[in-house]
Amino acid sequence: MIDLSSDTQTRPSAAMREAIARAVVGDEQHDDDPTVTTLNERVADLLGKPAALFLPTGTMCNLIAVKTHTRPADVIFAESDAHVLRAEAGGAALASGVLTESVRGAAGLPPGCFGPDDLDAAIARACALPAPHGPAPRLLCVEQTHNFGGGSVWPVELLAAVGARAREHGLAVHMDGARLLNAVRATGRPALDFCRSVDSVWLDFTKGLGAPLGAVLAGDREFIAAARRYKHLFGGAMRQAGIAAAACLYALDHHVERLDEDHANAQRLAAGLAAVRGLRLVHGAPQTNIVFFEVDKGSFDAAGFAARCLERGLRFSAIAGRVRAVTHLDVGRTGIEEAIRIVTDVLDAAGSRLAD
Ligand SMILES: *Cc1c(COP(=O)(O)O)cnc(C)c1O
Repeated sequence: MIDLSSDTQTRPSAAMREAIARAVVGDEQHDDDPTVTTLNERVADLLGKPAALFLPTGTMCNLIAVKTHTRPADVIFAESDAHVLRAEAGGAALASGVLTESVRGAAGLPPGCFGPDDLDAAIARACALPAPHGPAPRLLCVEQTHNFGGGSVWPVELLAAVGARAREHGLAVHMDGARLLNAVRATGRPALDFCRSVDSVWLDFTKGLGAPLGAVLAGDREFIAAARRYKHLFGGAMRQAGIAAAACLYALDHHVERLDEDHANAQRLAAGLAAVRGLRLVHGAPQTNIVFFEVDKGSFDAAGFAARCLERGLRFSAIAGRVRAVTHLDVGRTGIEEAIRIVTDVLDAAGSRLAD
């Protein structure tokens, strides 16, 4: 099976499993697991924040960050296709009782990004009336890289401009940095440059980094202390979590620079797909490791096309009428070439059926 449905579809390597087996562990719930502590310190350093908190999932990072930054009935702002709005089961509403307002980027910006004026417009819409009538604007969430924007990268300068405007409005800024390190590798800019504009940020270790579980949320000490309480409250405080943190540390040492291979493979895949008649890339050439495309052939919708590919041993995901392919460390160049062949075959077979 060539699984391009997500970069979560990796298995821990033998060397990563060895690191897991060797992990020194303690009681993470009592803040006493040395491997978790090391991981938190490394991520805090990498992201330029005073403190960090190991969590089981990225979804819990967003859930806790929104909870920590807001009070019920506040408004949070995020790009209209942001993961926190579209793919987290409405958790922000349940856990934090917040209103959400979509921000739409002006034409010409990378998909999933927006500018200071777009943020102004969203705030003007959501909070047009003064208190006590209008709700209070509280938090801006940005996503780096933007998943449904095709792994697009927020440029450092745009992020700084949007962050500065958010602060003028009194908003805190939170970065869903599930794939921040993809942005780092794609731009050659250090993570610090992206994190300077935000108050809180997290990394997911189960995406391109290839660990079996874990994410780390970073921010200032007061923020992380409050987040730790919510971690406990939501049932995310663990025990000998060092076995998971060891895999994350292994990933930081061995799986960051190699993200370049995923990006090169995504480029190759996109070029291969663009050359197949009946397919159209949604966002053009990928900046990182995500490729969205549409199938023009009358015989398929996105889900039908993905199902036909799956029969031939190639898995994509179908999202909102589009097909998504995500490259990762468990699919090498040979797998990418094979994927292009399978796609071509599936469309050829459909074409000859249509001709019959
Ligand atoms: C995967 C993802 C999440 C959620 O992370 P999990 O670890 O799967 O809970 C959040 N935001 C973005 C942008 C993601 O891609």
